[in-house]
Amino acid sequence: MSVQVHHFINGEFMAGDGQEQIAVTNPADNSVIAELNIATETEITQAINSAQQAYEHWRRVPVSERARLMLRYQHLLKQHHDELATILSQETGKTFEDARGDVWRGIEVVEHAANVASLMMGETLENVANGIDSYSIVQPLGVCLGITPFNFPAMIPLWMFPMAIACGNSFILKPSEQDPITPTRLAELFAEAGAPQGILQVLHGDRSVVERLIAEPKVKTVSFVGSVAVGQQVYRMATQQLKRAQVFAGAKNHCVVMPDANKTQVINQLVGAAVGAAGQRCMAISVAVFVGDSKGWIDELRAALSQVSPGLWDSPGAAFGPLISPAAKARVLRLIQAGKEAGATCLLDGADCSVAGYESGNWVGPTLFSDVTADMPIYREEIFGPVLCCMQVDTLEEAIALVNANPYGNGTSIFTASGAAAHQFQQQIDVGQVGINVPIPVPLPFFSFTGWKGSFYGDQHAYGKQAVRFYTETKTVTSRWFADDVVSSPNMTIALK
Ligand code: NAD
Repeated sequence: MSVQVHHFINGEFMAGDGQEQIAVTNPADNSVIAELNIATETEITQAINSAQQAYEHWRRVPVSERARLMLRYQHLLKQHHDELATILSQETGKTFEDARGDVWRGIEVVEHAANVASLMMGETLENVANGIDSYSIVQPLGVCLGITPFNFPAMIPLWMFPMAIACGNSFILKPSEQDPITPTRLAELFAEAGAPQGILQVLHGDRSVVERLIAEPKVKTVSFVGSVAVGQQVYRMATQQLKRAQVFAGAKNHCVVMPDANKTQVINQLVGAAVGAAGQRCMAISVAVFVGDSKGWIDELRAALSQVSPGLWDSPGAAFGPLISPAAKARVLRLIQAGKEAGATCLLDGADCSVAGYESGNWVGPTLFSDVTADMPIYREEIFGPVLCCMQVDTLEEAIALVNANPYGNGTSIFTASGAAAHQFQQQIDVGQVGINVPIPVPLPFFSFTGWKGSFYGDQHAYGKQAVRFYTETKTVTSRWFADDVVSSPNMTIALK
C-alpha cells in the first residue's frame, strides 16, 4: 500500500498542494511504496519564513536548554532504533543490520550535539593592552539548509540538523526523493522530543526545490551531500550567492595491501568494505591496490566474494541489498561492460543477478576485476555498486603515487604489519580520512568527516568542532572599563556604564 510522505512546515506535517508527484519505490521489486508531492513555491516560502521566525527566538534560548533538547532526542532515537531501521531497510533495501548502523551513526552525532556548550566556548585573554581584555564568542547564523543523498537517509540528515540547531540556528532539510520516509520520521521524533515549532522544516522535492532554497536570501548556509556533478553545481550556485557552503561529493577509495599484512583479515575486510550496502557508501573500498607478492591473494579474494550474495533486507543470508533504482543498476552494468571492453579481467561477474520472487529488483552480484589500469572507465568513474577493482604495483611508493594521482580524496586505507609503512602512508597520502588496518575509516563525531580533493568543496567539514565553526560566526570583543566609572557603595562596587 502506498503512503503519502509529508512535508514538515511550521511545526505541521502536511501532504502539500504540489501537483507534481514523485513515487518512492521498494528497490527489491520496484513497487511503489509511497508518494510525495514536490513542495510548491507557497510551501517553500512558508517554510523559510517560519524557520526565520523560529530562529529569532531560538538563538536566545540558553545553550543548556538547547543541549537538553538533543539529550531528549538522542533518548527517543535510541528507543525507536529498530523501528527507524525497519523503515530505512524497506525504502533503501539495506539489510536490517546495515540500516541499524546507519541510524546508530546518526544517533552518535546527536550525542555529540548535546555537548554544544563546551563546543561553542570562545577564547579569552586578559590585558591585551593596558586595561583592555579581549574575548571571542560564537553566535548562530540564521536559517541553514541541508540537501541529502539517498545512501544514508538517517545518518546524513543527522550529521547536519542536530549540530546546526544545537548551535542556535534553524534548519531546512531537503532529503533525497528516493528515500524520504526515514528523514520524515526523524523530524517527527524531533518534534516529539520537544523541538520548538519551526526550528526544523522538511521540504520534499527535486532540483527545483534545491535551487529555490539556495537562491533564498534568508538561507545563510548550504550543506550538501551527493554526487560529484550535482555537488559542483550546488557549490557554484551557493558561492555565487556569496553563501557559506560545504559540499561532500563522490569518491574512489583505495585500499593498499602490503605483502606483510594479515591475509585473512585483508580478505574478510575487503569483502565487507567493497560490497556492503551494495557498494553504495561514499567510503566503500572500490579499488584494492596489491603491493608486490600480495597480488597472489586475489584468487582467495575471489573465492570469498563468491560466497556472498544480495537478498531481501530481512533475509538472514543476505550480505547486502539491491541498488537503489533501475537507473543505478543500469549505470553499474554499463561500467561492468566497459571494464570488460577495456581489457580488465573479470574474475567474478555479478551483472546477471536475480533474487527468487523479486526478479524485477535492482540486483547486482559481487563483481571483481583484476588487471585494472588508471585509464579505464571502471577506475576513472565512481561505480557506486558492489564492484571491486584490483590493481597491482611493486612498491608502497608506487601505491601512494597512484592514490595521490586520483582526483578524489574521501577515504583510503592500508593493511600492513609495518609501523614504518603505515607512518609513511599516513604522512604522504593526499586523502582526508586514512585507515591503518581499518578498511572504512569513518571518524566518530568528536572528530570531523574530512574528505579532500574532488570529494569535498568548502572549508569546514561535517560534525565535530568543524561543524560548530561552519554553523556559527565568531565575534571578537575588545573591552575596557575605566576606573572613574566605578563608585563604591557601602556593600558593593557598582559599574555605572
Ligand atoms: P545526487 O547528487 O543524485 O542527489 C543528492 C541530493 O541532491 C538529493 O537530495 C537530490 O534531490 C538533489 N539533486 C539531484 N539533482 C540535483 C540538481 N541537478 N540540482 C540540485 N539538487 C539536485 O546523489 P545521490 O545519488 O542521492 O547520492 C549518491 C552520491 O552521494 C554518490 O556519489 C556518493 O559518493 C555521494 N556521497 C558522498 C558522501 C561524502 O561524504 N562525500 C556521503 C554520501 C554520499
